[in-house]
Amino acid sequence: MVSLICLGIESTADNLGIGVASSDGSILANEVDVHIPEQGGIHPREAARHHSEKMGTVISKALETAKITARDVSIVSFAQGPGLGPCLRTGATAARALAAYLNVPLVGVNHCVSHIEIGRLATGAEDPLTLYVSGGNTLIAGFEAGRYRVFGETLDIAIGNCLDTFAREAGLEYPGGPAIEKAALKGSRLIELPYAVKGMDMSFTGLMTAAINEYRSGRHSLEDLCFSLQETGYAMLGEVTERALAHTKKPELLLTGGVGANKRLRSVIEDIAKEHGAKPFHVPIRYATDNGAMIAWTGILAYTHGVRTPIEASYVDPRWRIDEVEIPWRV
Ligand code: AMP
Ligand code: MG
Repeated sequence: MVSLICLGIESTADNLGIGVASSDGSILANEVDVHIPEQGGIHPREAARHHSEKMGTVISKALETAKITARDVSIVSFAQGPGLGPCLRTGATAARALAAYLNVPLVGVNHCVSHIEIGRLATGAEDPLTLYVSGGNTLIAGFEAGRYRVFGETLDIAIGNCLDTFAREAGLEYPGGPAIEKAALKGSRLIELPYAVKGMDMSFTGLMTAAINEYRSGRHSLEDLCFSLQETGYAMLGEVTERALAHTKKPELLLTGGVGANKRLRSVIEDIAKEHGAKPFHVPIRYATDNGAMIAWTGILAYTHGVRTPIEASYVDPRWRIDEVEIPWRV
């Protein structure tokens, strides 16, 4: 069989990613250009402007890395949601234009689904329960009856957002996750912070606000606060993940998303997997943070199982839930 080549565009938030994947399962290119805000957090319109400015360059780079020309592309895929509206629209506009110009099919893919699919491809996990933790998303999902079902999620902000906002208030460098991880290694005293697990859902706003208030009170060292923020937040993630694993009895536990780079969180997840006889996996960082390769690979899976996104259905959906998506490539 002739292999198909998909070019995938990821632009849900601050990363502009262009990936090239082949239907034989190889990733031919994975170029990323990150928008760093001058101050504060991500500003959707500024990030979108960055993406449109860099779109041409990053696409060219990806084609060059893949050693192909645009004419070799057989499918164009893009992250259709969830994400920040202006950023999503920039990626979708480029994808529509490119697909029309090359006269190839267009496939809109769900960003959260693609994190799981690239995780399966990169680690060899087949049917994992996945903890997906990033700047904009926090959820625990597993495949069941045709879809990725959500077994637990945040009710408000993502864990990465909680870490990044605290770090900013505490004067740590951006993005906050790695800086907090480093400081936490020197902390040891557990400061009581709000632990909010409600059923299978979590809330991180109270934790974030309390940590900021404790920092401003001047009563604690920054190291102890970072330590406590990590211990509390990761214990919440661990509790829900463990219950989901006990319930689903999945044989594998996959950690992905940018926060999955955290060594403390990895060890929490590994302990849980061991306890329940599941095999732990973590996605290599280049495929764990937002990237184009995952969109390209999911584009291949979807296209080869009949999914097409005609232009009139290619509008973006900033709130597109993972469990609304049919997954015909899995049984
Ligand atoms: P993503 O949204 O998947 O692109 O990942 C970005 C998020 O990952 C940001 O919130 C970062 O602060 C977070 N992050 C990156 N490295 C680490 C780390 N070592 N520990 C905790 N969070 C991290
Ligand atoms: Mg990101």
